[in-house]
Amino acid sequence: MLSIQNFIDGSFHHAADGEFLEDFNPATAQCIATIPRSKSVDIEPAVAACQAAQSAWSALSLDQRADWLDRIADALEQKAERIAQLESMDTGKPIALSRRVDAARSVSNFRFFASFGREQSELTFQMEDAMNYVHRSPVGTVGLITPWNLPLYLLTWKVAPALLMGNTIIAKPSEITPLTANLLAETLLELEFPKGVFNLVHGLGPEVGQAILEHPDIKAISFTGGTETGRIVARTAAPMFKKLSLELGGKNATIVLKDAELDKAVDGAVRAAFTNSGQVCLCGSRIFIEASLEEEFTRRFIEKVNALQIGDPQDENTNMGTVISPEHLMKVESYINLAIEEGGVILTGGTRAMTGYNGPEGIGAYLLPTVVGNLHYTSRCATEEIFGPMVTLHAFTSEEEALEMVNSSEYGLAGSVWTNDLERGRAFSAQIDSGIVWVNTWLHRDLRTPFGGVKNSGVGREGGRWSLDFFSEMTNVCIKKHDSN
Ligand code: NDP
Repeated sequence: MLSIQNFIDGSFHHAADGEFLEDFNPATAQCIATIPRSKSVDIEPAVAACQAAQSAWSALSLDQRADWLDRIADALEQKAERIAQLESMDTGKPIALSRRVDAARSVSNFRFFASFGREQSELTFQMEDAMNYVHRSPVGTVGLITPWNLPLYLLTWKVAPALLMGNTIIAKPSEITPLTANLLAETLLELEFPKGVFNLVHGLGPEVGQAILEHPDIKAISFTGGTETGRIVARTAAPMFKKLSLELGGKNATIVLKDAELDKAVDGAVRAAFTNSGQVCLCGSRIFIEASLEEEFTRRFIEKVNALQIGDPQDENTNMGTVISPEHLMKVESYINLAIEEGGVILTGGTRAMTGYNGPEGIGAYLLPTVVGNLHYTSRCATEEIFGPMVTLHAFTSEEEALEMVNSSEYGLAGSVWTNDLERGRAFSAQIDSGIVWVNTWLHRDLRTPFGGVKNSGVGREGGRWSLDFFSEMTNVCIKKHDSN
C-alpha cells in the first residue's frame, strides 16, 4: 500500500494535522493508498512556496520553460507503463485504455504545449500613427482542481500551459484518484524541477479545494468537474475577481441521420457511450436516430454492446472495467430504477455484471452496459448527467425535431453527428448548442482547437491559444510614432 504525501516547495509532507484518507481500487475494493486529508492550513506553505518561486520561474524565457515541458514529457514517457498501471488500479478502467489514452495523452499534453508555445509570435496591431504590442505576463499563482475520470490526462492539460506561461501552481486532484498526480510530483523531484513552482495538495473538495478557491493570493482557478461543484467554484471565486475557467458536466447527443453509414455509426455510438464505462465528460449518453433507421440501428447497437467484454481491468482484452466506486455504482443503479419508473424499457444490461473477476472480495463495482428505450427525451434519465454506462435511445422524424430534442438539454458540451452528406453534417452541427461537435467521428482531438462547453457545461475554453490566454494576463502597449503628433 502506498503512503502518499503532499508535494510542497519541492518536498513531500503529511497534512499538518496528520489526518489521512484511504484510496480504494474499485475493481477489488482493496485500499491501495493513504493520502493526506489536507485543510486550509496546508495551503499556506504551498502559497508561500509559489510566491517565493514566482519571479525566478517567470524570468525564464518562454523557450526555456518549453524546454522544461519537453523534459517532463520525456520523463513521463519513460514511465508510461507505470502511469497506465496506476490509473487502471485507481479508476478500474481497462489497462489497454489507460495506456492508449491516459498515459499517452499525459505525455502529449506537455509535448504539445512545448512546441505550440515556441511557435507563438508576439501579437502586434499596426495603426497609421502608432504600433500596439501585446505583452503577456503570468497570472501568478493558479489553482488547478481536477476530477477522477481521466486523472493525469486532465491535470496535465492544465499544468502544461500554466507552467509554459510562467505561473506557479497549486494542484488538487480528486481524492478518489490521487496516484498519478503523485507520480507527476515524484517525476518533478527527480528532474530537479525548480522548487515551489508546482505544488500538490491532496484531500477533500469541500475542505482543501474550498481553501484554494478562497485564498486571496491564488489569482486564477481552472476547474474541471461537475456542474454543481462548478456553481460553488463560481460563487466563491467570482466575487474575488479571480480568473475562472469552468469545464463542467455534459449530457451529450449522438445523432444518426438517415443517410449515415450504419456500421460506422453503430461503432461510433458504442464507443461514445461506453468508453471508460461512460465516464468521459464527452460521452454520448443520448442517442437520437432518424426514425427510418431506428429498428436496424437499435438491433445492431445492442448486438455490439452485448459483445463488449466486461471484466478485470488488468486483462488486455477487457473493453469495460468498473465504474469509479461502489457509491457511484449505486447512483447509476438508481437511474436504472428511475428509467423503469419513467416508463423506459431496458433493452440490454440494467444489472451488476458477474464478470468471473470480481476481485478477491467478489465486490468489484461492475455494471453491465445498459441501453434504455421508450423514454421521452425530456425524462429525467434523458436529461440529467448520469456519468456511467447507461444510454437512452430516441427516434426523430425531421432535422427540426432532432434539433429541438438535442438542444432541449441544459448542457452543451459535445456531440457527434453521423451522415454521409458532409455538407449536411456541417450545417446541422452548427445549429447544435454545444462547444464541440464531431461529424462521423468521436473524441478526435486536435489540441490546438478550443475545448469547452456552453450552457451548464461551463464557461471559457481551454486548448491551444485559449489555454495561453487563460494562463496569462495581456498588457497592450500602444506606442505613438515620433513624427505624427
Ligand atoms: P466533482 O465536481 O465532484 O469534483 C471535481 C473536483 O472538485 C474534485 O477534485 C473535487 O474534490 C473538487 N471539489 C469538490 N467540491 C469542491 C469545493 N467545494 N471546492 C473546490 N473543489 C471542490 O466532479 P467529479 O470528480 O465527480 O467528476 C465528474 C464530473 O466532472 C462530471 O460531471 C463530468 O462531466 C465532469 N467532467 C467535465 C469535463 C469537462 O472537460 N467539461 C471533463 C471531465 C469530467 P473531491 O474529489 O475531493 O470531492
